[in-house]
Amino acid sequence: MVYILNQEGKPLMPTNRHGKVKHLLREGRAKVVKRTPFTIQLLYATTDCVQPIVLGVDAGSKVIGLSATTEKEELFASEVVLRNDIVELLSIRRQNRRTRRNRLRYRKARFLNRVKSKNKGWLAPSIQHKVDSHLKAIANVYKILPISKIIIETASFDIQKIKNPQISGVDYQQGEQEGFWNVREYALWRDGHECQHCHGKSKDKFLNVHHKESRKTGGDSPGNLVTLCETCHTLHHKGKIELNLTKNKSYRDATFMGIMRWQVYNKLKEIYPNISMTYGYITKNNRITNGIEKTHTADAFCIAGSFKAKRSSVVYFQTFKRRHNRQIHKANFLKGGKKKLNQSPYEVKGFRLFDKVLFQEKECFVFGRRATGYFDLRKLDGTVIHRSASVKNIKLLEKKSTLLIERQVA
Ligand SMILES: [Zn+2]
Repeated sequence: MVYILNQEGKPLMPTNRHGKVKHLLREGRAKVVKRTPFTIQLLYATTDCVQPIVLGVDAGSKVIGLSATTEKEELFASEVVLRNDIVELLSIRRQNRRTRRNRLRYRKARFLNRVKSKNKGWLAPSIQHKVDSHLKAIANVYKILPISKIIIETASFDIQKIKNPQISGVDYQQGEQEGFWNVREYALWRDGHECQHCHGKSKDKFLNVHHKESRKTGGDSPGNLVTLCETCHTLHHKGKIELNLTKNKSYRDATFMGIMRWQVYNKLKEIYPNISMTYGYITKNNRITNGIEKTHTADAFCIAGSFKAKRSSVVYFQTFKRRHNRQIHKANFLKGGKKKLNQSPYEVKGFRLFDKVLFQEKECFVFGRRATGYFDLRKLDGTVIHRSASVKNIKLLEKKSTLLIERQVA
C-alpha cells in the first residue's frame, strides 16, 4: 500500500498500483515524503475523492492496536509499544537529587512548587506519556489517510450497565447474550483472572465463568458468577469436586479503572469531530464469532467493525524510545575529584542512537555505538542483525525520532 497526499498535503485514498506510483515519481509529478509507511505527495492538482475509513483503536497501557479499514479493505494496521521505563527513571532522578542535596549541600529542598498542587489536569508522568502516545500515534494515521471516524475501546466492560441492568438501548436489542458477555468480563476482572477454587494450582490457563446457581434461577448477576479454570469447572460439573469458594467477593469498585483510556477518549473528542467508543466485551464477542486471531491489530480491526474487509498483510510495528539520557554525570567521583560523563556523544561517526539504517540489504536500527566505529544493529523487537557492524557498511535511512517505525510482512 502506498499512501498519497494531494498538492496541499491532505491525504487521499492509498493505492496498490505500484507501477503507477513509480511512473509518477519518475516523471517528477510526485515526490516521496516518507519512507515508512511509504508516502508520496502529488505535485499536480487533483480532485479529492475519498471513501469512508474507520480507524479502530485498541487503547492499552502497554500496547496500542490501530486498524484503518474501509468496508472492503484494511488500509493500515499497526502495533505501537509504549515506554515502560518512566516510573523507574523518575525514581532514579529523585534519588540523584536527594544525594546531591545531602552530600553536596548546594541545593535546597524544593517545596510548594509542585506541579501537582498547581495544575488540576495533572496526571502521573507515566500515564501522561501513555495518553500523549495514543494521541500521537492516531495523529500520524490522520497524516496519511483521510479517516472519517474513530472508534476506540475505552474499557473491557460497561460497569454502568451492570449497576443499572434496566438500561436498555443497543444491548437490549442485541439480546441477553451480549449482556452476559459484559458481566462475564466484569467477573473475570473482579476475580483477578484467577480460578477461585484452586487459585492457579491446576496450571490451567483457560478460564470459565461458572454460574453458582443455574442460570435459570440465579440469573447473570455478578453475585451468581465466579471464575474457575476449565479443569476445576469440568471436575465440578462431573460431580468430582465440591467447590471451595471463599465467601462471595464484594462489589469491586471499577470507577478507577481505565482512567488512562477515558482520558484518551476525552482528549480525542476535543480534536476529532467523529468519534465513538466501544467496550472490550463487544470486541471479544465479535472477534470470536468471526474467528479472528487474538492480536492487538486484530482487536483494532474488530473495533473498526468491517468484518468482511480484506486484512492487511503488512503491520507497522512502532515503539516509543526516550529522546535523550538526561543524567549528565555518573553518581560517583573518579579519583582526583573528577566527574565521569554518563552520556555518550550525540553523534558517533555521523550516526545517532536509534537511527534507521541499511546493513547488508536489511533495514534495522542503531542500538549501540562504539567510538571505534562498530555498531550494534537490531530490529525493533530486539532481534540482533549484527553486534559489531562496521560503520563503513552502514547506510543512513532515517534519522532517529521518539517514535520508531518498522514495516513487517505477515
Ligand atoms: Zn482451578
